[in-house]
Amino acid sequence: MSQVERQQWDVVVVGAGGAGLRAAIEAREQGARTAVICKSLFGKAHTVMAEGGIAASMGNVNSGDNWQVHFRDTLRGGKFLNQWRMAELHAREAPDRVWELETWGALFDRTADGRISQRNFGGHEYPRLAHVGDRTGLELIRTLQQKIVSLQQEDYKEFGDYEARLKVFQECTVTRVLKDEAPDEGDEGGRVGGAFCYDRESGRFFVLEAPSVVLATGGIGKSFKVTSNSWEYTGDGHALALLAGAPLLNMEFVQFHPTGMVWPPSVKGILVTESVRGDGGVLRNSEGKRFMFDYVPDVFKEKYAQSEEEGDRWYEDPDHNRRPPELLPRDEVARAINAEVKAGRGSPHGGVFLDVSTRMPADVIKRRLPSMYHQFKELADVDITAEAMEVGPTCHYVMGGIAVDSDTAATRRVAGLYAAGEVAGGMHGSNRLGGNSLSDLLVFGRRAGLHAARYAAGLTSRPVPDEVQVDTAAAEALRPFSAEGLEDGATAENPYTLHQELQQTMNDLVGIIRREAEMEQALEKLAELRVRARRAGVEGHRQFNPGWHLALDLRNMLLVSECVARAALERTESRGGHTREDHPAMNREWRRANLLCQLADPSGGLAATDPVRGQIDLVRVSTEPIRPDLLALFDKEELVKYLTEEELYE
Ligand code: FAD
Repeated sequence: MSQVERQQWDVVVVGAGGAGLRAAIEAREQGARTAVICKSLFGKAHTVMAEGGIAASMGNVNSGDNWQVHFRDTLRGGKFLNQWRMAELHAREAPDRVWELETWGALFDRTADGRISQRNFGGHEYPRLAHVGDRTGLELIRTLQQKIVSLQQEDYKEFGDYEARLKVFQECTVTRVLKDEAPDEGDEGGRVGGAFCYDRESGRFFVLEAPSVVLATGGIGKSFKVTSNSWEYTGDGHALALLAGAPLLNMEFVQFHPTGMVWPPSVKGILVTESVRGDGGVLRNSEGKRFMFDYVPDVFKEKYAQSEEEGDRWYEDPDHNRRPPELLPRDEVARAINAEVKAGRGSPHGGVFLDVSTRMPADVIKRRLPSMYHQFKELADVDITAEAMEVGPTCHYVMGGIAVDSDTAATRRVAGLYAAGEVAGGMHGSNRLGGNSLSDLLVFGRRAGLHAARYAAGLTSRPVPDEVQVDTAAAEALRPFSAEGLEDGATAENPYTLHQELQQTMNDLVGIIRREAEMEQALEKLAELRVRARRAGVEGHRQFNPGWHLALDLRNMLLVSECVARAALERTESRGGHTREDHPAMNREWRRANLLCQLADPSGGLAATDPVRGQIDLVRVSTEPIRPDLLALFDKEELVKYLTEEELYE
């Protein structure tokens, strides 16, 4: 039995981004003793990077907005593959979550008459994004952090201990969700018993025992070479769920944001916020042409301007003009940029031009887009008030994720395991609209915290983590330090080399445009990397050892990458964040299919018995029919583009 420190909590929240903090606040307010654990420093989660805003139909700038319009936009953006109940809850509850933030101290930008200002973003019919300049995520995290501190102060008054009911374990990583040693017969996939963790600075192992665990670990972008994502995005929560027995949903859908920096090489992939286009920025190719007018797909033709003049008029008079095609959903814009570059009409460094300098006075640019101004000035020596930026697609967000119950955020099959935020799948269908993530974090973070607390409170017996699992997790975490696992004479592999090869593979073979032969090649390469990753070795000791951390993260990135590649190979159509060159059309039959990824070995083992066979099984399940009153929000002519005859008839 491992001699690791243990602590007992009611709810453990893995992740301290927007979703994790909102979940923790809710669980604590329900009375649950709640622990939050995160890889980075408290307040430094990926959410702080969010720029443009939070989508919520408050109708402050255009009173025509309401939850039904937001719901419609979200389904259109996701090409109708969204878990419709999640999209409904999200659209209904987002305004309350934003107002709540304000009562907790968030300072949003204002309209002239003093209301929370809202800005335009791609795919949103009305100005809808509540924002703080282009630093909205920072304000969101600051506010949630402040709320946590205030709850801790309340606890101090009551118990004399700030951490009596809410404690943050920062710079700590969870490597396994532990299960109860003796689950009830009814719990088919077992029930949660806690989490196995290590402190990144000291390397010390510890176990947080709890009947409820909420996964809020964010995305997977670090499996791709060019990405806007932070170092934390190694798909940990996705992998933790899989290993615990909870399936992932529709992992083929990965969003490539159309505008990342393309130059200089050291900053390639860093995001250029969509607010630049929302505020009037235009895309041009090397011939100076506003090429997006050539790329409006049939399903969106009626909603977008046909000429530059109409598009420009829309900024002043949105009620009588259609929006410019630069504000199409992200998947459309990313594909268009990719096509222009491929056709030889790109910018000198392999992107296209994004220009605000000819669209707004310099002082307005500096006021509305302060981070973008500094980002380009400092990193590329480009003054965006005087010259165009060079931009190209960058891996940005994963729509696929842990399959959850729409109302409770409970994962499938594993009792006590919840997921919220980017790590959860379904809400955004095949493509997320900008701004819909921050609102998703708040809406479903709250729901996950609520139901995790209720579940823990309702149990008659407290689960006890299985000791064998604790020992196995400890041995797994220590493997990179030992020669154990090396086959005869094989040398240890460098985790950094493996990571680079993985990123290159995913970028080149499962990237923005996908082909069958390339994805098969990717799966072969992933099989090879899996075998080599078992030999990943590190030198030194456990005190802050980044090579060791990466060696452990590789397991997660490889698992998640296999899910993306297998699901992408299986889905023989193009939809949202999944574009197949060999199957370029969207196929209505495929709208009815969800792809679930689950671990091939249900015991949670990762023995690489047959590397080609891989570790993931794919299961196809039917989507649940959309509720009739929600379908009635759309015109029949529009539904015909997405739904099958049979569905329409029903
Ligand atoms: P995160 O904020 O990433 O938090 C994840 C947490 O999990 C972190 O605390 C991390 O340390 C922790 N963690 C991960 N693995 C482990 C582990 N194994 N053990 C312990 N802890 C772990 N969306 C919008 O809606 N509007 C925007 O304007 C916007 N702008 C963006 C700009 C940029 C540059 C980027 C990259 C994204 C943007 N997004 C935006 C997307 C949005 O920021 C993210 O989808 C969202 O912040 C994810 O939040 P989260 O709470 O799910 O995860």
